[in-house]
Amino acid sequence: MVPVLDFAVGGDEFITMAGPCSVETESQLMTTAHHVRQAGARILRGGAFKPRSSPYAFQGHGLEGLKMLDRARAATGLAIVTEVMSECDVPLVAAYADILQIGSRSMENYTLLEAAAHSGRPILLKRGMMATLADFLRSAQIILDNGNPNVILCERGIRTFETATRNTFDVAAIALVKQISHLPIIADPSHAAGHRDLVPAFARIGVAAGADGLIVEVHPNPDRAWSDGDQSLTFAEFNEMMDSLEPYFAIRSQGWSESAHQRTLEAVG
Ligand code: PEP
Ligand code: MN
Repeated sequence: MVPVLDFAVGGDEFITMAGPCSVETESQLMTTAHHVRQAGARILRGGAFKPRSSPYAFQGHGLEGLKMLDRARAATGLAIVTEVMSECDVPLVAAYADILQIGSRSMENYTLLEAAAHSGRPILLKRGMMATLADFLRSAQIILDNGNPNVILCERGIRTFETATRNTFDVAAIALVKQISHLPIIADPSHAAGHRDLVPAFARIGVAAGADGLIVEVHPNPDRAWSDGDQSLTFAEFNEMMDSLEPYFAIRSQGWSESAHQRTLEAVG
């Protein structure tokens, strides 16, 4: 279990993290924060430092974005998860965030993993898009070995020959991690799907596979989003998705045994 503010990820409570891909404006972030909290989210997501595939795309507001997240936490009581891309930024991001997100593109940045571990903050480790499960767990192990036990894994889809979805959502990895690791794992249906119409179905599949929570992109006006608009849910769609999860919680709790092992690498080669 990973403690965050006054709750935990990986315990009895299913935890939803939600919010925009990028922190854009005060009103965008605040309205989203209030909305997702009302719909049952515990944690607000939002990128201030953005790893964009194109150098010409919006790169994030940096410190100003962190300050907006801080104000959104004060206004709503939601915990904050936000990405840190460079080891130089770890102290700054750790001063504002409750959970440090290590993005897919950084999963194998070992200097960053060590620096993030030493911050003492819980870490949300996203699976690299080209990473095997063994690679993923090795990166988690680096954080653990650097004295930080509070790692939350995140399955966000991997690259395969299939291009019909943005990434191939490897839900089998969620079921397997629940059997072989003590670490909590959450599902990111947004980056796996790439299109908002598919996100609720992917969320339900992730829950059924045994995920401890979700991280979902939500935006007041997805068509105008500065990043990842295609896969961001409207407020109404987010409500609908949350309501649709209920029957899947029962499936989730039947799906895996409690006999997780502390060390995982042998099991996955
Ligand atoms: C994100 O969460 O917005 C993000 C960039 O995710 P990933 O690192 O999984 O691509
Ligand atoms: Mn995104």
